[in-house]
Amino acid sequence: MQNVIDELIDICGSDSVLQNVSLKDYTSMKVGGNADVVIEPDSIVKIKDCICALRKGNVPYMIMGNGSNLIFSDEGFRGVIIEVSSRFSKIEVNGEYMVAEAGALLSRAANLALANSLTGLEFASGIPGTIGGAAYMNAGAYGGEMSSVIVETLNLDRDGNFIILKGEEHNFSYRNSRIQQDGLICLKVTMKLQKGNPEEIRATMNDLNARRQEKQPLDMPSAGSVFKRPEGHFAGKLIQDCGLRGFSIGGAQVSEKHCGFIVNTGTATAKDVVDLIDYIQKTVYEKTGILLEPEVRIIGRS
Ligand SMILES: Cc1cc2nc3c(=O)[nH]c(=O)nc-3n(C[C@H](O)[C@H](O)[C@H](O)COP(=O)(O)OP(=O)(O)OC[C@H]3O[C@@H](n4cnc5c(N)ncnc54)[C@H](O)[C@@H]3O)c2cc1C
Repeated sequence: MQNVIDELIDICGSDSVLQNVSLKDYTSMKVGGNADVVIEPDSIVKIKDCICALRKGNVPYMIMGNGSNLIFSDEGFRGVIIEVSSRFSKIEVNGEYMVAEAGALLSRAANLALANSLTGLEFASGIPGTIGGAAYMNAGAYGGEMSSVIVETLNLDRDGNFIILKGEEHNFSYRNSRIQQDGLICLKVTMKLQKGNPEEIRATMNDLNARRQEKQPLDMPSAGSVFKRPEGHFAGKLIQDCGLRGFSIGGAQVSEKHCGFIVNTGTATAKDVVDLIDYIQKTVYEKTGILLEPEVRIIGRS
């Protein structure tokens, strides 16, 4: 492993290669053990060279964006996490097109759209992820989805080949995409927006963010909605109807404010969160016959 770490330092610089890193500090749920290594490459070439070095050295790796949909186990991650986030986050606007590096935050992209009188990204302004993580997850809210704005992505496959996907080739469906299905690394996203009225765009963003503030436990660590929406139902409503509002295991609790969220009351371990997910799944299944499928990504179960 040390020879691969040396190679990563040569590629990214020593300040972008961090060792024995607490994943609590990198994820919105604030649980999880340490990663052996986290690297923060700031260009496409560096990301590609890192992947090649990791593959050559047979070192396990994974991609992390803003860590807002991830739960790492208490044992952490043995291998290298490639953080595609603030160091790789330039955004350009050309007419109605916005081209963003994968690490750019959705909130910044939505604000830039507003500054350029472009409509289409209002739904995303309160989702705390990166553009790359959102393309991978086909993130969505309030009737909007990344699939409705993305026209092209530049990706890297596991062998280090560049893959350009256009329109339908993304195979977008609810919280799913070709990027996810094929295990691609999303590098750049081109979005097509429309000219709009800045007052209306601002009003919509303010309204959606006020609705989030009112309905979601944004003052506590969480990973957003834990479960996907089952066909014809809302996960939060099912969990509430099963009497689980406020139910907790250790420091992990079904949010009092929104039963679709699990919050960390301060002392949660990853095991608490995963045990609570399992408990909710089992209870809801026994009482309703509906099997809730996690939306959050659980890495290495405790
Ligand atoms: C308070 C709160 C509210 C939320 N509200 C919403 C909401 O309304 N709608 C919604 O859809 N989600 C919501 N989420 C969940 C989350 O913000 C989204 O899933 C978001 O798209 C994840 O982006 P991320 O950069 O944080 O990805 P991460 O959590 O870092 O990663 C998620 C997955 O994407 C992969 N990934 C990340 N970046 C890349 C990349 N560049 N290339 C390839 N794979 C990549 C990771 O490997 C991982 O499997 C919410 C979360 C929180 C905490």
